[in-house]
Amino acid sequence: MYLDLNKELTDEQKSVKEETHRFAAEVLRPASIELDKLSPEEVIADGSVMWEVFRKAYQQGHHLAGLPEQFGGVDLSPLSSHIRTEEMGWGSADFAIALGVSSFPFTFASRSGNQDLINDVVIPFSKDTEAKYIGCWAITEPQHGSDALLIGSKEFGDVNISFDCTARLDGDEYVINGQKAAWVSNGTIATHACTFLSVDPGDGVAGGGVAIIPLDQPGVSRGKPLDKLGQRGLNQGEIFFDNIRLPKHCMVVQPAAYPFIIDGILALANAGMSAIFTGVARAAFEEAL
Ligand SMILES: Cc1cc2nc3c(=O)[nH]c(=O)nc-3n(C[C@H](O)[C@H](O)[C@H](O)COP(=O)(O)OP(=O)(O)OC[C@H]3O[C@@H](n4cnc5c(N)ncnc54)[C@H](O)[C@@H]3O)c2cc1C
Repeated sequence: MYLDLNKELTDEQKSVKEETHRFAAEVLRPASIELDKLSPEEVIADGSVMWEVFRKAYQQGHHLAGLPEQFGGVDLSPLSSHIRTEEMGWGSADFAIALGVSSFPFTFASRSGNQDLINDVVIPFSKDTEAKYIGCWAITEPQHGSDALLIGSKEFGDVNISFDCTARLDGDEYVINGQKAAWVSNGTIATHACTFLSVDPGDGVAGGGVAIIPLDQPGVSRGKPLDKLGQRGLNQGEIFFDNIRLPKHCMVVQPAAYPFIIDGILALANAGMSAIFTGVARAAFEEAL
């Protein structure tokens, strides 16, 4: 039962709610219950239901939610977006997060204006119906969590606080070194990482940038999939970069724009988490009745 407080939903919003709810009830929730009993290695093994869910989600276009319309995205209103995310969370917080972050590198690339990057990663992702392209958002580090997000505080420009993962310009390429934490969702299965890292360490966290890094290259390695008490269907794990060379155009956000991006991403991620866990709370309430 859902105590529907907003009686003013439009037909479009009702249909977003019904369609997403059906997908959540029929696909996400049963798979999550099954994955909850498995080890983190079994969750991502060939033949695991996790892959089936990714494929079904991609076939229905759920991975394109954040993309511009020209790449198959749907321009949902903020309320429709909340409704969609809440229903995904009602079905499974694990998959709501996994499918949400999967689009990060491709969404950032789609807004870069760089045609090479769009051809290389965005168009293949927009046509993907088999979940061959899986993204992740690699921001957290073993030594940096909330402190990397303190926009608006003096600590944001404190030279003593910056990512340990760095990008150094060398000719036409960036050289990337460092590590992202075991919290990175899709960390051990992702093909591309939307990586927040330090470009100008002299400006502290404010000297950050965002790089789209393909993860199938020499010098990239992963940790073990993280073993957790909850959200066991959500793959998470470390990513290590050892002298990765990246074409300059893959740095889609430079330090001058980085604070605005952090501002926007915090708004997006915090609103997204609120919507997902409103869905989880609703599911718990229904279960308790
Ligand atoms: C399910 C899940 C999925 C995640 N997915 C991703 C992902 O896809 N990619 C990724 O990069 N990371 C991901 N994370 C990591 C997440 O973004 C970090 O956990 C978060 O930024 C907090 O960082 P931290 O864990 O290092 O905690 P810390 O920043 O060390 O905080 C520890 C405690 O200190 C408190 N605290 C921190 N700063 C202050 C302050 N200034 N004043 C008062 N109290 C403070 C916090 O509230 C908290 O209680 C995920 C985490 C979880 C649990």
